[in-house]
Amino acid sequence: MSDFRGDGEAALDWVAGYLERVGELPVASKASPGDVRGKLSPFPPEQGEPFEAVLRDLDAAILPGITHWNHPRFFGYFANTGSDPGILAELIVAALNVNAMLWTTSPAATEVEELALDWLAQLLGLPEGLHGHIDDTASTATIVALAAARELRPGGHVLTSEHANFSVEKAARLLGVECRFVPVDGDYRMRVDALAQQIEGAAAVVPTAGTTSTTSVDPVREIAAVCEQAGAWLHLDAAYAGSAAVCEEFRWTLDGAELADSIVINPHKWLFTPMDCSCFWTRRPEVVFRAFSASPEYMPEREGSVTDLKDYGPALGRRFRGLKLWAVLRCYGRDGLQALIREHVRLAQLFASWIEEEPGWEIAAPHALSVVCFRREGSDEDNAGILEHVNRSGEAFLSQTRLDGRLVLRLAVGNARTTEDDVRRAWAALREAAV
Ligand code: PLP
Repeated sequence: MSDFRGDGEAALDWVAGYLERVGELPVASKASPGDVRGKLSPFPPEQGEPFEAVLRDLDAAILPGITHWNHPRFFGYFANTGSDPGILAELIVAALNVNAMLWTTSPAATEVEELALDWLAQLLGLPEGLHGHIDDTASTATIVALAAARELRPGGHVLTSEHANFSVEKAARLLGVECRFVPVDGDYRMRVDALAQQIEGAAAVVPTAGTTSTTSVDPVREIAAVCEQAGAWLHLDAAYAGSAAVCEEFRWTLDGAELADSIVINPHKWLFTPMDCSCFWTRRPEVVFRAFSASPEYMPEREGSVTDLKDYGPALGRRFRGLKLWAVLRCYGRDGLQALIREHVRLAQLFASWIEEEPGWEIAAPHALSVVCFRREGSDEDNAGILEHVNRSGEAFLSQTRLDGRLVLRLAVGNARTTEDDVRRAWAALREAAV
């Protein structure tokens, strides 16, 4: 028999200790392929072992193979946060272990999910009355949107910008829908004139609020007018930048969102919710329902006003993700979320000012939010070398992209534990690597 309380205390102690010292660990794992497996038994145990054994291997074998996304100097991709309320809520979700496929399979799971989405819509200034649900990822949410669009216009193509996330093209491919790309302007925003030329016969247009490379925000309001005329579904991918709209001064990131047929925002990116949590809202739930509802014999259709969330996406079984989002929103509150978002934008702008002031370095794209694209004068190889040097040092972790044919470095602030000192340390590591 397991000693649940004893093991639980040890596990929680491990988690608390990890979060206290994570900032002292090298950010990127130094593991070579096979290192982690090499330290673990290739054979399953014949007899069950105590949980203690799991914690032992965690320290000895698994932790060295972890790149610490929850590190204050993780600045790669879109940095994120496993926050205290999110971590604790995940523990409770695992204990409840409900499947939120139908309202009846656990009424609270559906209702808390819907409530958390309503709260978030209020915090972001989205219109009232949207139908919301939580998906694992924005990739899935975009599949949902494009499947709905296909219901309305089978055979139509999908339009998105050259700077859209690859998940849009992938969703289109999965659905057997052609994806076409709209060129961007000098600030990496979808060109509305070019969109208008390609719109005829389109089933959907997917603009982005916060593109993956530079966080540019497409002109959604103008795009919506083109969609309206052509009868195309407008799905807004606000996976990253939508979160900024909790602050009034960043509401512009969702300008025109009220005109979208569907929207996705990822609290597991910039809203302090542990992986995975992707929020999808639509003002046309009946179309999404048409694309996904099914009532097999073993799940008879029910009369009534409740929602069965399995009818709004590809998955039948659904985790109780609403609890962690609700817990995060409840424990941070509007003030707490705003303070963190503002601080992250401040830190990114501070970093950008250092780049601007330092001879030999340049800013590579507009940077209104918490991500800065920059490069050192010189070749792509020089810049790749700097990135590798910094990441290998363990002092900080950054990522890269390509803009106008040139390799550029990206610093993304997004972890709730990041301080000004952490950003200074990353800058010092970059300058040292460039010598
Ligand atoms: N959309 C944008 C703009 C992104 O940057 C990303 C990932 O970084 C995605 C969608 C895909 O997100 P997910 O990993 O939740 O599928």
